[in-house]
Amino acid sequence: MHCPYCRHGDTRVLDSRVADDGASIRRRRTCPADNGGCGKRFTTVEQMQLTVLKRSGVSEPFHREKAVSGVRKACKGRPVTEDQLAQLGQTVEDCLRADGWAEVPAHEVGLAILGPLRELDEVAYLRFASVYRAFESADDFESEISLMRAERAASEIESEDVHGAEREATASEPQPVPTG
Ligand SMILES: [Zn+2]
Repeated sequence: MHCPYCRHGDTRVLDSRVADDGASIRRRRTCPADNGGCGKRFTTVEQMQLTVLKRSGVSEPFHREKAVSGVRKACKGRPVTEDQLAQLGQTVEDCLRADGWAEVPAHEVGLAILGPLRELDEVAYLRFASVYRAFESADDFESEISLMRAERAASEIESEDVHGAEREATASEPQPVPTG
């Protein structure tokens, strides 16, 4: 591996360390000054190559950009920025790595996209889900939307519970007694 500072071709590993619970290896390297290098140090990270197994049976390296391209189409005209798309790609990759996949079926990549996309933009989510899950009619949209509503209502009730508890705590404080 060449030096990122001076591009000297012969760098040396100082030490290797397992990181991320065994999912990667970090190596400290030096560009040896006694061998024509600049003497600077840098770190490299070695990660397992994540591959995607396509329906055709062919596998190819996982590319965040490729995973996000379908999402970008679904986000057309929606207030979703490139940064948010990049972040989503990162989340999806982290999630697949955390699940321990070496060779991810293409289907699982789509599944990993659905959750974070729904949090990002519900309209884009519905568009993406309609293609990915091959919605056939308005009924499919309707059932997906009622599911989303039900889950949203459930999370609102949860947060109301918290506020309710706060109100109770306030009410139980001693009240000033009027004298006169
Ligand atoms: Zn160097």
